[in-house]
Amino acid sequence: MSLMAGKRGVIFGLANDKSIAWGIAQQLKEAGAELAFTFLNEALEKRVRPLAESLGSKIILPCDVVNEDQLAAVFAELEKQWGKIDFVVHAVAFANREDLKKPFSQTSREGFQLALDISAYSLVSMTRYAAPIMNDGGSIVTMTYLGSVRSVPQYNVMGVAKAALEASVRYLAAELGERGIRVNAISAGPIKTLAASGIANFKEKLSIAEERSPLKRLVTQDEVGKSTLYLLSDLSTAVTGEIHYVDGGFSNNAG
Ligand code: NAD
Repeated sequence: MSLMAGKRGVIFGLANDKSIAWGIAQQLKEAGAELAFTFLNEALEKRVRPLAESLGSKIILPCDVVNEDQLAAVFAELEKQWGKIDFVVHAVAFANREDLKKPFSQTSREGFQLALDISAYSLVSMTRYAAPIMNDGGSIVTMTYLGSVRSVPQYNVMGVAKAALEASVRYLAAELGERGIRVNAISAGPIKTLAASGIANFKEKLSIAEERSPLKRLVTQDEVGKSTLYLLSDLSTAVTGEIHYVDGGFSNNAG
């Protein structure tokens, strides 16, 4: 299968081989895409670099998404090395652990701003840098969660950040549609990752998802990867501004 042959893009949010970004990267590579990666800091670089190199990536750059200079530098480097890009994967989120433990009304102003900045605004700024070097017909995909539209215990400020992220998807899709550039989100069911370990009682979310989803099992990083492949490829050229659920049917199931 060479759905992504000749297509180049960048993945933000790889931390280790449990990351959703890793499931996505493997699917994209298998479909023939050329990939660039970013890492948050030196500690993570040690994990990210070997993984990225194992997929043949030559562009592996530092990027803390709250740092505008680093974000600009990533896209400047992509332009220098490749000229144009075809896709961006945004798989980045963060909230202070303390803010996820406390009752929601106790969320600190700083914690609220930080969660929204890293988890939602970053998609807006990324798109601002990406669009000028993106081929018409390009595609941007971000990762969200059901806590954006329902109050999910302990998800708290991350739910608010994901609501802002999903609204941003719709506004960015409207803005870039004329150029055939599409912006979508995948709302994944719970998956054991580094970020998920910051959410209190996450194990409970896993067992509820397993019990109550029509498929009666958890979803995998590879399955999120396959849906991302669809949204980044020419299989989905008329799909934009969508929140695409990859959760075994959980969100549709009242049982
Ligand atoms: P992960 O910990 O593997 O990935 C989160 C990534 O965010 C890490 O690579 C981390 O380095 C990066 N990050 C955090 N702060 C950053 C910053 N300031 N600048 C740049 N990068 C930063 O966990 P994951 O579960 O694979 O998360 C990926 C995405 O999927 C997130 O948006 C998450 O909310 C979303 N998601 C996860 C689940 C789940 O259950 N794991 C479910 C639905 C959605």
